[in-house]
Amino acid sequence: MRIAVPREAPGERRVAMTPQVTRRLVASGHQMVVAAGIGGVSGFADEAYAAEGAEVETDPLERAELTVVLGPPTAGLARRLPEGSVLAGFLDPFASGDLVAALVERRVTAFAMEALPRTTLAQSMDALSSQAAAAGYQAVLVAAAAAPRIFPMMITAAGTIAPVKLLVLGAGVAGLQAVATANRLGAVVSAYDIRPQVREQIESLGAKFIAAPVDESAAAATGYAKELADETQRRQQAALAPFVADADVVITTAQIPGRPAPLLVSHEMVEMMQPGSVIVDLAAASGGNCELTRPDEEVVHAGVRILGPTDLAAMVAVDASEMYARNLTAFIERITGDDGVLSLDFEDEIVSAACITHAGRVLHPVTRRALGLEPVQRPSGPEVGS
Ligand code: NAD
Repeated sequence: MRIAVPREAPGERRVAMTPQVTRRLVASGHQMVVAAGIGGVSGFADEAYAAEGAEVETDPLERAELTVVLGPPTAGLARRLPEGSVLAGFLDPFASGDLVAALVERRVTAFAMEALPRTTLAQSMDALSSQAAAAGYQAVLVAAAAAPRIFPMMITAAGTIAPVKLLVLGAGVAGLQAVATANRLGAVVSAYDIRPQVREQIESLGAKFIAAPVDESAAAATGYAKELADETQRRQQAALAPFVADADVVITTAQIPGRPAPLLVSHEMVEMMQPGSVIVDLAAASGGNCELTRPDEEVVHAGVRILGPTDLAAMVAVDASEMYARNLTAFIERITGDDGVLSLDFEDEIVSAACITHAGRVLHPVTRRALGLEPVQRPSGPEVGS
């Protein structure tokens, strides 16, 4: 299959395909075509791709059977995709009507990595998890750099320095990685999640699970938490308040797919923290877990620094890209036969769940709802490509 890797949007430091993973795809018989200068900012040189057997071209899209991206392409780029070809990447398909319209116009079969099921079967393709893990790790480093304190206990001739008290709110993939990273840096870590089953994971990482309301039904159907009623949210904030006040660093990661992030830290709770404390809010892009968070800005309130970085995974672009490229490769292997030829089986739960557009139609129910379209019957059974 001819696989194209165009340049990402300006400002994105990650790439969809790395030289190392290119080698694996070339060895499987695929023809890799990457855009010249694609990995410059993260240090992946054109020569490194070429050394692994890729062609480096100014316009890689020509004759592409599959195009892989990290972030959503512009509608303009989508209109340049070969008609009937396949696209895979984070497409933000529930928000971008223009992109979806362009994909329909070009009869592109588009797979959104964020729509893959979060199941054991799809684990190797789970790019949400790999990027969340990178972000959770980096959040602790950002907090450590912003905090005016040393994280581990330090016994010196000038006296003993107490370790930092770090609280993680929301212990999904990013939160658990933050717990592990903060532990390694020597902080005293506690954590909380609305899903009670996370308690064991938090404790197995050596952190303390704090006593605040849990929702027994939180992960019942989808594995995800659901939105809380106002009254429960108030009880939750009241229970969290003393733990937030006592923490030197708070890292928040609580999210609910497709909904605004839950409000866990009110401005009154920020005012109860010691001046010099730091909050890093990973939910900034979806409204923030802290009332005062502003995406990609630093807010200082009552001496507390509140950071809302939305590009944490991109700060560790090399490893985040390697993981993402491996996720994509696992997905590519899922949609190709042993002979390396495209073979789409819409009865495959992974293929079907991730497909947003196919043959000039919008298939994903959430995208259809977002665009105000009627529900539609999905195609079923294998469909072998060229
Ligand atoms: P996410 O980014 O959607 O949310 C982060 C965390 O915030 C979650 O743990 C969630 O429970 C928590 N949260 C939401 N509302 C909250 C509130 N009001 N108070 C406190 N915490 C709140 O989650 P994620 O990291 O993407 O993981 C989502 C689910 O998917 C989890 O159940 C995870 O175990 C599961 N998962 C499964 C697999 C797999 O089986 N292969 C892989 C990855 C994730």
